[in-house]
Amino acid sequence: MTRKTRHVIVVGGGTAGSVLSARLSEHPESSVTLLEAGPDDDSYGELVLEPARAAEAWTGVGSVAMTAMTTETGVIPMMQGRVLGGTSAVNAMATLRGLPPDYDAWAAAGLDGWGWEDVKDTFIAAERDADFPNSPLHGDKGPLPVRRWRSDELSRAQRAFCEGMVEVGESAVSDINDPSQLPGVGVFPVTIDDEGRRVTTSLAYLTPEVRGRENLSVRTGVEVAALAIADGRVSGVRLVGGEEIEADEVVVSAGALWSPHLLMRSGIGPADHLAEHDIAVHADLPVGATMSDHLGPGIRYRHDGPRGGVAGPAQVVLVGASKGRDVDYHAFPIASAPSQDATEFMMAVFLLRSSGRGSVRLGDSPEAGPVVKAPPLPEDGPERLRHAFDRLAAWEDSEPARALGCAPVEPIDLRAADAVATALERLTMSYAHMTGTCPMGTVLDADCRVRGVEGLRVVDASVMPTIPSGNTYLGCVMVAERVARKMKTS
Ligand SMILES: Cc1cc2nc3c(=O)[nH]c(=O)nc-3n(C[C@H](O)[C@H](O)[C@H](O)COP(=O)(O)OP(=O)(O)OC[C@H]3O[C@@H](n4cnc5c(N)ncnc54)[C@H](O)[C@@H]3O)c2cc1C
Repeated sequence: MTRKTRHVIVVGGGTAGSVLSARLSEHPESSVTLLEAGPDDDSYGELVLEPARAAEAWTGVGSVAMTAMTTETGVIPMMQGRVLGGTSAVNAMATLRGLPPDYDAWAAAGLDGWGWEDVKDTFIAAERDADFPNSPLHGDKGPLPVRRWRSDELSRAQRAFCEGMVEVGESAVSDINDPSQLPGVGVFPVTIDDEGRRVTTSLAYLTPEVRGRENLSVRTGVEVAALAIADGRVSGVRLVGGEEIEADEVVVSAGALWSPHLLMRSGIGPADHLAEHDIAVHADLPVGATMSDHLGPGIRYRHDGPRGGVAGPAQVVLVGASKGRDVDYHAFPIASAPSQDATEFMMAVFLLRSSGRGSVRLGDSPEAGPVVKAPPLPEDGPERLRHAFDRLAAWEDSEPARALGCAPVEPIDLRAADAVATALERLTMSYAHMTGTCPMGTVLDADCRVRGVEGLRVVDASVMPTIPSGNTYLGCVMVAERVARKMKTS
């Protein structure tokens, strides 16, 4: 007896969608259609592939979708990659997992299979770590090439940050994915190849061999307008332009801003909000109601030239702990431009423990992009930031910082009692780690299935019930790997 082929549509060929499509199409009884709104990855130019040019992409040029995020102190322009590979094509390539308690909290909330001991092996299997090939903490056979920036690739400011922080008492950490070494200062692991070129999840997972599979169709430049839902079941999607495609199952991987937007446009969301837009309700769920992110101040510095180094905008990081050993912030310099003449950089400080929730809602018309409200800073945020500012003040006085000739562009006395409030008023930034807009536990079950709608899952940054204490791209890879495995065996 032959089994019927199951047709799965993946909406969004971004960070998670590329991984998911590659893994699902390993299964000969599935046929997979990946629908990506942006262009194919053969469109990548130097802006994508050359890490030093990432900061240019952040100004909104290239294949990105811009939105605006409202915070308590202003409006932050917010972008997501709109190209095969998604935001992994425009991010800072930092390849961090978060910490074991982050995932143990997911399991403790009733999400079986998501505790640290469950997810650790998935992180390890996804990477091919050039620096720690034989470590039990790292993998050497996975699709993602990972290494740390070499000393000769660091800009002078990045090197001075690392050396100065060690001078003022921070531990030098050789592997910031090793929780036993934290807190301390170290070099970001990044997903780049031997030549120092960015490797996105589409390049790593949707290889020519994978794309040659008969049961995988990758369509780019096609935007999904709505999910087709009848009698509590998804039957396919409708594209902008009207084409309809049927499927046995649809997985939405459009990212933490656009996945909730698509669900709400399709009638899955808070009933009162959908009613405001005259959208018939298929499932009354808190879609978009619980967005998390990492926020914090940025202080602009300038130093004597030249810039030095060859690599990306964020290369080293202080993984800080304001209370005891519990890691709760990242502080790091971000180069604002690749040019060797550009000696200005932003010192960013982001709070990692953030329980506040923002939101994603529909705009004036369903066709308009998402309306995004950032979470509030945590109540004890200023207190935790105080610790970071004391560390930065000590760094300013360190020999490496003084040798750099480094000073804030807008003078600020980091030791002053009102320094944190002043800095937050001047500039509150987002780490762009938007998560939790369709979380497991409320909107989704532990297998990322949308509650109350058959044949529909969400698999991307949206699904994270609480935000990991680190960067979020690798978490999206982990989630996609794990859900693909569940789908292949169910
Ligand atoms: C500037 C910036 C820097 C960052 N730096 C880092 C970092 O250094 N390290 C880190 O870990 N994290 C970083 N992040 C965050 C991280 O990259 C994201 O959390 C992660 O990549 C999100 O993956 P995703 O799969 O959820 O969504 P995405 O990768 O954004 O994928 C969504 C895809 O869906 C497509 N899509 C959307 N709507 C539709 C539709 N209707 N039809 C068809 N296709 C659609 C999009 O075009 C896109 O390709 C950064 C983010 C930004 C914005």
